[in-house]
Amino acid sequence: MQEETLQNLWKVAQGKWESGVLPSAENLARARASLPNILPNTGASLDSVQQHILNDIVPAFNGGSLSPNYYGFITGGATPAALFADNVVSTYDQNVQVHLSNHSIVTDVEFHALGLLADLFRLDRAAWHNGTFTTGATASNILGLALGREFILQKAAEMKGSPVRSVGEEGLFEVLHELDLSGVQVLSTLPHSSLVKAAGVLGIGRANVRNICRADNPLHFDMDQLEKELARTDKVSIVAISCGEVNTGRFATSGMEQLANIRQLCDKYGAWIHADGAFGIFSRVLDDSPEFATVKKGGQGIELVDSITGDGHKLLNVPYDCGFFFCRHPGLAFQVFQNANAAYLTAAASDGPSIPSPLNIGIENSRRFRALPVYASLLSYGKHGFRDMLERQVRLARAIYDWVFEHPAYIALPLTTSKTELLDQSFMSVLFRAKDDILNCELAKKINDTGRMFVSGTSWDGAPACRIAISNWRVDVERDVTLVTGVLAEVSQI
Ligand SMILES: *Cc1c(COP(=O)(O)O)cnc(C)c1O
Repeated sequence: MQEETLQNLWKVAQGKWESGVLPSAENLARARASLPNILPNTGASLDSVQQHILNDIVPAFNGGSLSPNYYGFITGGATPAALFADNVVSTYDQNVQVHLSNHSIVTDVEFHALGLLADLFRLDRAAWHNGTFTTGATASNILGLALGREFILQKAAEMKGSPVRSVGEEGLFEVLHELDLSGVQVLSTLPHSSLVKAAGVLGIGRANVRNICRADNPLHFDMDQLEKELARTDKVSIVAISCGEVNTGRFATSGMEQLANIRQLCDKYGAWIHADGAFGIFSRVLDDSPEFATVKKGGQGIELVDSITGDGHKLLNVPYDCGFFFCRHPGLAFQVFQNANAAYLTAAASDGPSIPSPLNIGIENSRRFRALPVYASLLSYGKHGFRDMLERQVRLARAIYDWVFEHPAYIALPLTTSKTELLDQSFMSVLFRAKDDILNCELAKKINDTGRMFVSGTSWDGAPACRIAISNWRVDVERDVTLVTGVLAEVSQI
């Protein structure tokens, strides 16, 4: 793209989040009307295609990633370093699938970026510098359950004194049949929908993802019931830890002792532990100050699990799409994901002993160089930069919770009578509803109709609720708390 167009693009994008978080109805309608119904025989000039995209399509985007006041989903943003690197990635268009040390540096950079991420999350490289970059947490959850499935069926064979089988090689049905088992189950507490999707994709079955929740706290495991399920002789189990629940932002576990107990049970029964830390793994970047002690406990002991999901395009603030996956068992991924029987690739894949070829340890063969924006952002911010970013996000969430808790029109969720406890437990999400049922039913819409901020509507305890998910690198606590509480005060009076 010409220099001038790129400059123009940046200017338009910059203005975007200053002019509202959603596109206007007119801009949406105009963009829809501009989409061609049929592929023309003759192509248009590059210039006119650029003008069409900039003038018709871009005005109908939302401020999702650009605006610090877009709190829907958990979108993150894109740091300047990541954005620069992402443009380099597109321009040079490297294919990161086979490690060929004489051909390109890209697999080395990707491998190093994974090591730097392990450092960011205080995961010991000796155990954890193993895994890959993915398209997002959904793909990482597929990897986690796939490796878990492989591992627990190998363990089951070992425990029964049968020859070790591989699902990747022989097939799930064949291995289950051979071991006289009726299926695989995933035991969790309020797992993200994508984990259920992963179970569906992998032939485990969505119905076999089960909540093993305590009656007094649905986020925590009922340890007695967990042991009962793990002890079943007809099924093999994967335990999935919600390291950051998507509505509340809270954690399924709270410290090393709990993780050690779960680890001990899983070792006894040959189960795999996967942690979905899409955003929750970032609690490990916080320091030891009392201000964040409770939240930090949510990520403590995660090094005892077998595999970890993390998202790049959320709290790491790199562009879509990017996720990452760590696993403590080197070699296992090859058994599931090897790109077998391609002589021209396997010959190349043996080049270089230490860096595995990505095509043999993850879902895709051809892959985008999505590790470069991560690499650039990590170098540009360092451990402290990411800690500062997260501290701002948590402080903003707490300042909003504080206001919501005190306001007569709103109820802070999960319900509690103690504001101290509420603030202590809160990470970077704010879950709440209006006291008035009629207002509550249209609360998200009313907030979003102001055009000044955007929240997700969700459901909690069987009734509608709103969630403010704070994930953008541009957070400014004072500026944003004024805006958010201003909008909430205004909406409560309509
Ligand atoms: C967002 C999220 C996912 C899914 O992530 P994608 O990047 O959208 O695939 C999975 N788990 C949790 C906890 C999440 O917050």
